Amino acid sequence: MVRGGRLIGLVLVAALAGSALAQGEVLVRATLDGRPADVKVVVRQGEKTLGVHYSPAAAPGLVRIPLPPGTYTLVVDRGAGFTRGAVLREVTVEAGRAVELEVALPTGFSPRAWGYYGGDPHAHSSASFDGKTPPEELVAVQLAADLDLGFLTDHNTGDGHAPYAAAAANRGFPVVLGIEITAFRWHWNAFPVQAYVPQIPPMVWMGVGSPAPTFAEARAQGARFVQANHPYWSGAPYFEALGKPFFDPGFELVEIANGPFEDDDARAVEQMFKFWNEGRRYVAVGASDAHDWKDPADPYGRPRTYVHVEGEFTVEKWLDALGRGRAFVTYGPLVNLTAQGAARPGDTVALKPGEELRLRAELVVAPRDGPRGLSLLQVIRNGAVVREFALDGKPEATITFTDRPTTSGWYIVRVVATDGDGAWTNPIWVEVK
Ligand SMILES: [Zn+2]
Repeated sequence: MVRGGRLIGLVLVAALAGSALAQGEVLVRATLDGRPADVKVVVRQGEKTLGVHYSPAAAPGLVRIPLPPGTYTLVVDRGAGFTRGAVLREVTVEAGRAVELEVALPTGFSPRAWGYYGGDPHAHSSASFDGKTPPEELVAVQLAADLDLGFLTDHNTGDGHAPYAAAAANRGFPVVLGIEITAFRWHWNAFPVQAYVPQIPPMVWMGVGSPAPTFAEARAQGARFVQANHPYWSGAPYFEALGKPFFDPGFELVEIANGPFEDDDARAVEQMFKFWNEGRRYVAVGASDAHDWKDPADPYGRPRTYVHVEGEFTVEKWLDALGRGRAFVTYGPLVNLTAQGAARPGDTVALKPGEELRLRAELVVAPRDGPRGLSLLQVIRNGAVVREFALDGKPEATITFTDRPTTSGWYIVRVVATDGDGAWTNPIWVEVK
């Protein structure tokens, strides 16, 4: 038995060595406006996705992919679906040879042109028990998603903060350090915090006690924001506790979109409409809650939250504006909503009875793997759709809408792309008096 086992072992080693020698390699060099650019590269063969690769944080734009001989499609992605489309390239790999692929990314459109900067305020690293992404590489992953600032929010640990912050400082990438306070039944993000390990009382852990002390503890650690995460996800549905005596409303942000948009996200949107109708000005955010950089179904940066910053970008200004609700949530479509030419989501417009509210929405949607356009815009007033605009599938549109509200309330727009990807603004508040 032993001899036989050894023999099989030797044969295996020989076979592995043979296949290693037979490998080829693709070397991708990606640039944006002539400079090396962080990218994600997805390798496909026919319908199958074979792997996800990134340029390392220390070598932007340079992706080495060992591959056995064959013909592949490489999808080179920098913010695909948000700021530009992906670049698709066919490559044929031969044994023992390297193919060099120069990819100049298209310029695309960044909502920075409107003053909006994108963040993904719920992201995990391998410091989380269920995370796979090394914190020092998360920076490259978020840059490849074309995010303007990064977040790290691991489950009950800040162990990833130092390597993440160091890699970010190396690259001049602004980041916010946070944590996902993770109890058995409920989850909240708190940021910014550092080196903070939440003490979660057993009743909160089980989802039957007030989290007020936990929120207070996070704030004592410097957290400006508590975010109700995936509030209807069956694994941790905090909003199922709405109306219970122990429900604590002491959070500012609500994830209306967490990872792929599913029924629980739709319920969160509906609940936000109720909050807003009650005058409770929680801010809607969208975040990926991604854990694994190599999983093609778990992309960082999708969905994300764009926040409007006046003048030059700083993290401080971004957080201030987030707290005021100057933000939209999106899986792809970009929307610049204004009222009366100057007011934005989060602002309050004062009107006299019968006076006209003038909304204007500039819309852009990027291609993803292929072309796509805009399909629908809804104007929603106090939770009800008051006007729908069928869009003609073009990638850009400007819609204007006027209304004469007789009572105070709020307006948002929801935008849908031809592939179903959606976006929601936060409310523009109207005070009629
Ligand atoms: Zn969670």
